[in-house]
Amino acid sequence: MLRSINPFDQSPVGEFEIHNAGTIDKKLAAASKAFTSWKRQDYSHRAALMKRAGELLRQRKTEYARIVSTEMGKILAESTAEIEKCANGCDYFADHAAVFLKDQTIATEASKSLVAFQPLGPVLAIMPWNFPLWQVFRFAAPALMAGNVGLLKHAANVTQCALLIEKVFGDAGFPEGTFQSLLIESKDVAGIIARDEIMAVALTGSEYAGTQVAAAAGKNLKKTVLELGGSDPFVVLDDADLDLAAQVATQSRMQNAGQSCIAAKRFIVAEKISKEFTERFADKIKQLKQGNQLDPQTTTGPLARLDLAEQLEKQVQASVKQGARLITGGERQGCNFQPALLDNVKPGMVAFDEEMFGPVAAMITVKDEQEAIAMANASRYGLGASVWTTDLQRGERVAREIESGSVFVNSLMRSDQRLPFGGVKKSGYGRELAEQGIKEFVNTKTIYIR
Ligand code: NDP
Repeated sequence: MLRSINPFDQSPVGEFEIHNAGTIDKKLAAASKAFTSWKRQDYSHRAALMKRAGELLRQRKTEYARIVSTEMGKILAESTAEIEKCANGCDYFADHAAVFLKDQTIATEASKSLVAFQPLGPVLAIMPWNFPLWQVFRFAAPALMAGNVGLLKHAANVTQCALLIEKVFGDAGFPEGTFQSLLIESKDVAGIIARDEIMAVALTGSEYAGTQVAAAAGKNLKKTVLELGGSDPFVVLDDADLDLAAQVATQSRMQNAGQSCIAAKRFIVAEKISKEFTERFADKIKQLKQGNQLDPQTTTGPLARLDLAEQLEKQVQASVKQGARLITGGERQGCNFQPALLDNVKPGMVAFDEEMFGPVAAMITVKDEQEAIAMANASRYGLGASVWTTDLQRGERVAREIESGSVFVNSLMRSDQRLPFGGVKKSGYGRELAEQGIKEFVNTKTIYIR
């Protein structure tokens, strides 16, 4: 049984039967069958259906936002924004897939030589609960527009979301088997990856899950795209606009109750402005209202699962033992965790070395730009980063020095469908979104005609 629980008060939300071997066989066969005709559809047909999926999301956003919020704890405004982002993602890939995947003619001595971008087949997507719709649409919109079909193994605590996404694609008119949810446990994933029907695998989740999924895929020589954890640096240089930096710092670290791979996690601040920045940041964190995610006054909902909240509490306690100073927050009741600020954080401490997946900001003071860059790069992760300075040339220079998949200067680090998204180091490999993302799950085929 897969169980959904409202994390605010641990009340049950739903129970779902796990698919048995016979059901899984049928779904895999349906995916393979759907692919034989879906891959031949022209882009305009696929685009019309994808636009329809976007429309349905917009029409149903109030109903769906409540389901998302109840099941995983984010506040209603965030669920609504996430649904709108998914709808925009559908539109974007409906509008751009044909251009991104257009044949490229290459001049050679042949009468014609070209590169075609053709779909691979059924792709298994293993997805997390933190953005339970966006993580899936970010995969599905480009993958389906490219002519692939999708099979989703969603996180065990968001099965309602998994079924809702399947329903959106079904209601939009996607043929049977084009997008299906598999209600399975993570222990069954390796067996599915090994099946001949599956051509490639996408995972968004923890570093550990990344190692397991990549190993299973490697054993079967199947391509993977991995989007894993992060411990993004937020570098505040001595000439930064501190009001703006403190405001975006709070938004970046605390939105979604801090459960985002690209949340700023390590705040690396120049000594000269450290005291001033910390005061402004702490003030803003103290104004947050933690509580019931369905109450419109709440700014910070509960964490998605009890084990995650307990783990975060342990990380904070261990960091304090190692010498970090807790300036505000940190109290926990069930999944409800008071947004917290830790000062005096250094490499070697849990708050610096590990990913903290919740509303806890870690402050690190540095003497200058060079030390800021070194600190930013002193991490096993390399997903996103941001740099704060009023000197834009300096911002770009520092951005080029940071080891990560993206760096935003004077702006909130976020995923944007027009820009490639992904990591380096232990944050994974491959890219999602934009032209680079849609090209991950295609056969880049050379055709040479003498
Ligand atoms: P997981 O990585 O465990 O879960 C993500 C997805 O992977 C889920 O669908 C999960 O299924 C599946 N999964 C887990 N283990 C395996 C495995 N061995 N083989 C195949 N699939 C697997 O994340 P958690 O929910 O446990 O969160 C823990 C940490 O992961 C967080 O604290 C954070 O650091 C990181 N994380 C990062 C995210 C990101 O956006 N990059 C998103 C979520 C988490 P199931 O739910 O059934 O276990």
